[in-house]
Amino acid sequence: MSSSTPLRVAVIGAGPAGFFTADQLVKQKDLDVRVDLFERWPTPYGLVREGVAPDHQSIKGVTRVFDRVLDHPRVRYFGNVCFGEHVTREDLRRLYDQVVYAVGAQTDRRMGIPGEDLAGSWPATDFVRWYNGQPECADLEFDLGVERAVVIGNGNVAVDVARILLTDPDVLARTDIADHALEALRASSIREVVMVGRRGPAQAKFTNVELKELGALEGVDVAVDPAELDAAPLGEDESEDRRVSRNLEILADFAGREPSGAPRRLVFRFFASPVELSGDAGAVRSVRLERNRLVPGGGGAFRAEGTGEYERIDAGLVLRSVGYHGVPLPELPFDEGAGVIPGRGGRMLDAPDGEVVPGEYVVGWIKRGPSGVIGTNKACAAETVAAMLEDAASRPETAVRGRDDDAILELLAERSPAYVTEADWARLDAEERARGEASGRPRVKLVRVDQMLELMGKRRK
Ligand code: NAP
Repeated sequence: MSSSTPLRVAVIGAGPAGFFTADQLVKQKDLDVRVDLFERWPTPYGLVREGVAPDHQSIKGVTRVFDRVLDHPRVRYFGNVCFGEHVTREDLRRLYDQVVYAVGAQTDRRMGIPGEDLAGSWPATDFVRWYNGQPECADLEFDLGVERAVVIGNGNVAVDVARILLTDPDVLARTDIADHALEALRASSIREVVMVGRRGPAQAKFTNVELKELGALEGVDVAVDPAELDAAPLGEDESEDRRVSRNLEILADFAGREPSGAPRRLVFRFFASPVELSGDAGAVRSVRLERNRLVPGGGGAFRAEGTGEYERIDAGLVLRSVGYHGVPLPELPFDEGAGVIPGRGGRMLDAPDGEVVPGEYVVGWIKRGPSGVIGTNKACAAETVAAMLEDAASRPETAVRGRDDDAILELLAERSPAYVTEADWARLDAEERARGEASGRPRVKLVRVDQMLELMGKRRK
């Protein structure tokens, strides 16, 4: 394709993967790439806004990179536009040379055990989105008037939710945590959080800094059973992994600590799987755990196997933190088992192990599943962008004639008149920061779409 012919790209989803993709596309020196970034919420940043914990502000510094992308003259932002409702796959294929799906993993994985849906048993992802002021979860009501919470899972999300439940609310009050969550956490009666891993300490997925932070929380004792550490077998990969050996050192430090009589406690439990949640009057009251042993699971790794020994832990709140899962997009292929849109090296496939669909691409969690940190998406985007540029270079000139930058504006004016531009978002961003400054916080989030649109001077459709 001639380098003077612009390459028009639609990116669906304005989270980290979408932004890194847009960034790398518009940095091309030999090709005029124009990117339209579509997002179903008025606000951009995806998981950086709705996933990263409020007491981890430094991670949110990546939004400075994203803001430069939004300011780029060849990037346009269209928030409050839902794929499949306001714009269809067909529209995008007509208006753009290439479409990239960067929609992340929108739901939680299920455990599939009895009692999972009792009141008081929640996906941890809902709790995260609630304390981060995500509009869809802003009205959820978590009963924190209980003494003990159980967090299922040994990943960084489990660490985040345990830490938020145990952190002194005066510390959280200096962050951008949603006001409704701060208020509820101030009134919380939770004194103990038990974090349950189905395998051993060496198989835990949390990263060193996040684990260590749990041992430094003011007013919180940590408890690790030394016998569970001694019994920790290492799989082939784990014995070579610096993260694992450092995690074991940190946990050994926790195991050696004497209780200080702190008002709150975090208990680590390994080698245990929840098999049932029980309740009364429809609300969870306890978790039944089965003790596990580790058995070879293939590829040098271990998997958990039940031993037939059971115990029960009383708990009025259960946060199931067993991973995210992608959801299908209208009219697009989907790999249900993996929870991803099937792809190969960033190119979308028509089915798992199927044929490449020309002009459509995947990036981020909907491409590779819910793993890695925010920065992992940079390398993921580089792979997808390389495939896009390779395909663009071999496209015939005739394939791209007649596309029009303004056609999408006409379509949106008709289908989603309250769409949000980068200037609208800048207004909301400035307002949130100003409200924060007044109270010594990085920002005070607006948590309702109507409020956001009103502030931007738009009426909701
Ligand atoms: P994750 O790291 O995949 O951890 C999921 C945990 O759930 C694992 O311990 C897993 O155990 C366990 N699990 C899965 N199914 C289970 C079941 N049926 N019963 C009991 N346990 C089960 O997922 P995540 O915590 O949701 O995090 C997602 C990604 O975001 C990760 O890459 C994470 O590092 C990242 N993240 C990063 C940060 C940060 O950098 N601060 C914060 C939050 C999230 P097995 O290992 O046995 O499967």
